[in-house]
Amino acid sequence: MSEHEELNVVLCAPRGFCAGVDRAIQIVEIALEKYGAPVYVRHEIVHNRFVVASLEARGAIFVEELEEIEANDRPVIFSAHGVPKEVKADAAARNFFFLDATCPLVSKVHKEAELHHRRGRDIILIGHAGHPEVVGTMGQLPEGAVTLVETARDVTRLVPRDPDNLAWISQTTLSVDDTRTIVTALTDRFPGIVGPHKDDICYATTNRQEAVKSVAAECDAMIIVGAPNSSNSQRLREVAISAGCRNARLIQRASEVDVTSYGRIRTLGITAGASAPEALVEEVLEAFAAHYRLNISTARTADETIEFALPRQLRGTRPPVPSLTATGMT
Ligand code: SF4
Repeated sequence: MSEHEELNVVLCAPRGFCAGVDRAIQIVEIALEKYGAPVYVRHEIVHNRFVVASLEARGAIFVEELEEIEANDRPVIFSAHGVPKEVKADAAARNFFFLDATCPLVSKVHKEAELHHRRGRDIILIGHAGHPEVVGTMGQLPEGAVTLVETARDVTRLVPRDPDNLAWISQTTLSVDDTRTIVTALTDRFPGIVGPHKDDICYATTNRQEAVKSVAAECDAMIIVGAPNSSNSQRLREVAISAGCRNARLIQRASEVDVTSYGRIRTLGITAGASAPEALVEEVLEAFAAHYRLNISTARTADETIEFALPRQLRGTRPPVPSLTATGMT
């Protein structure tokens, strides 16, 4: 590769922060401003080390379980992924003041699950075992009320108590296409199963996948900026590959990319998962700009205007500046 060879860079849009992530980060920032440091956050507020480190630097302390919190006079924040009911009950029993940063679109799935349960239906949840959102959704109901399926093959193995009284729900950050396949398997096997109108995959996941699909076939390589434990970021890499870009990589930061290994590619697509700040996309652009003459364009497949209200306790408080969500990083 000669230096300063031309490289077409296609930036997918929408990419990066979604309304649920934006809200969750603001909750931590405003809590720090309003109540002072430290504030405790159960689990990574969103799945991104850069975001977590920035909030740690301002006084947030991240824990995995409530028993790790020694003081009970500091606010405790639950992450955007949601928590099982027993975690909230535990926090109340410990007299913690807690703020819930669960994305409202995850809370909506929790409510669907409760409604089906009240109507006596057994629930099939389409999702990934062990993901905190799945743990939180299953934890809204008594053990045994929700059965997890990850693949269409799992559907063939289901032995429901009453096959005529079933409902399905899904994780919000799945592959749209894979989920459709699983839903088809469910409805083929259990024609009476009820579910959401389309699925529970959120607008941000859907839009980011659509944008990747629109450019993947024309890209010699794609970079997805996001964390390995970020479900929606992992799905973007899979979507890029299945839509025709064989060289698709998920990276956390520009330092993970060996730009010289890309050689004579003509078109590079770039996107970012819903928990990745735009600053990390800019880092990647800078890394490539050091070796290529960049010809940057944007492939936009949707406009996003969704915003979610803050929890009641924080309304009316202005986010501090500089903010991860208010400095052009969105
Ligand atoms: Fe909410 Fe979707 Fe963002 Fe998750 S990815 S926080 S469900 S908007």
